[in-house]
Amino acid sequence: MWSFETEPEFQAELDWIKEFTRTEIEPLDLVFRGPGDPWDPYSPAARAMAPLQESVKEKNLWACHLGPELGGAGFGQVKLGLMNEILGRSRFGPSVFGCQAPDSGNAEILAHYGTPEQKERFLQPLLDGKIASCYSMTEPQAGADPAEFTCRAQRDGDEWVINGEKWFASHARFAEFLLVMVVTNPERKIHEGASILLVEKGTPGFEILRNSAVGPYIEQGDGVHGYLRFTDCRVPSNNLLGEEGKGFLVAQTRLGGGRVHHAMRSVGVLNKALDMMCERVLSRTTKGELLANKQLTQEKIADTYTQILQYRLHVLYTAWLIDKHKQYNREVRKEIAAIKAETPKILQEVIYHAMHLHGSLGMSDEVPFMTMWANIPEMGVVDGPTEVHKVTVARSVLRDYAPANGLFPTYHIPAQYEAAMEKYGHFLDPKESDG
Ligand SMILES: Cc1cc2nc3c(=O)[nH]c(=O)nc-3n(C[C@H](O)[C@H](O)[C@H](O)COP(=O)(O)OP(=O)(O)OC[C@H]3O[C@@H](n4cnc5c(N)ncnc54)[C@H](O)[C@@H]3O)c2cc1C
Repeated sequence: MWSFETEPEFQAELDWIKEFTRTEIEPLDLVFRGPGDPWDPYSPAARAMAPLQESVKEKNLWACHLGPELGGAGFGQVKLGLMNEILGRSRFGPSVFGCQAPDSGNAEILAHYGTPEQKERFLQPLLDGKIASCYSMTEPQAGADPAEFTCRAQRDGDEWVINGEKWFASHARFAEFLLVMVVTNPERKIHEGASILLVEKGTPGFEILRNSAVGPYIEQGDGVHGYLRFTDCRVPSNNLLGEEGKGFLVAQTRLGGGRVHHAMRSVGVLNKALDMMCERVLSRTTKGELLANKQLTQEKIADTYTQILQYRLHVLYTAWLIDKHKQYNREVRKEIAAIKAETPKILQEVIYHAMHLHGSLGMSDEVPFMTMWANIPEMGVVDGPTEVHKVTVARSVLRDYAPANGLFPTYHIPAQYEAAMEKYGHFLDPKESDG
């Protein structure tokens, strides 16, 4: 059964979200421009967001990334996708709706794998939007290849003792707790020898060496991506999330979700760029006619519209697959990797066209394109580089194929022709025709 329709009741919710985002949330982007503002619970932006978050909770649209069985108000990934493509228009959208990364993914794995005590201590305040969290896996010498990770935790009585460094740990500086991927058994392959530990803010032996920002922020070190060091940092043994050695199994739950949520929000960015592009070409006259009347412009509009629609349908299809399978199986992982790889490419093409059609204004600080542009590179790296996702897609696609049965391809015409003639050749015989 195929359907591309939204139920009228949910459409009414989406209409409310759209209006609320435009009138209440998008203005926050203009006032609070610090790199951590949407996530930092201690920033002035958090005070501005508080009444908006209350409105969202009253509408029962808060933290929709989690299903009711996990303590959220979720409706599944398809509906979350439809919501996120509106929220993605604003940097603050996800935070006002309680589904911002990395907290959304962290909440997901805590809900799936946390003990009742961990859920009470860490998940509940996170779901309530009272605290921020951090997910720390990347190391200074290794990101895309976890086999190179060296940050180590060793068991000592009732504690784990962590030693090592982590890199680009987003929001570590205002997180109440961190989920840290550590090597717990170096004798085994990393996918069986790593575990996730919960480390609370202020734990002795945990320090932030510095904070990097994405882009050229004027205040060096004022970013939100922490360079961390653990020196004999002790955490209780019951701070282990999931089973020992199963860190990557646990992480898959958040990484899969995180990637698809990035893509959903990117649809919002793309639609905003298309909206601005269309308004511009209908407003600007050059050489005696509107830009919209020039065929080279029309080609850009047509290509952009089609590209966005294809991407959006791919994202929603992936969301539908997740809802259907309720797990990140091979089919789901293939589509997530495909859209993850496509995201920086489509953002680059669409935002460039939109910016270009605005001329000098497009690249100025008076319209949002340069901000959108500056965020593209991270989409090609965060949660794994594009190349790695393309390899996942290619391997998964190739698994459904086999080598040709012989020297020539299956669709080699001479052999096919012979078989086809045997089947239908007699119709060419004039003696067989009615006439
Ligand atoms: C904005 C932002 C936020 C982030 N937040 C977090 C966070 O909260 N927590 C966290 O743990 N990490 C975070 N990261 C880190 C992110 O997960 C890593 O950047 C990513 O995994 C890549 O690792 P790396 O930066 O070490 O790059 P590398 O692994 O060094 O890769 C560099 C480049 O090498 C190439 N390459 C790598 N592997 C392959 C391959 N197999 N085949 C072909 N080419 C390859 C690619 O071109 C790639 O871009 C964040 C990154 C960004 C940009």
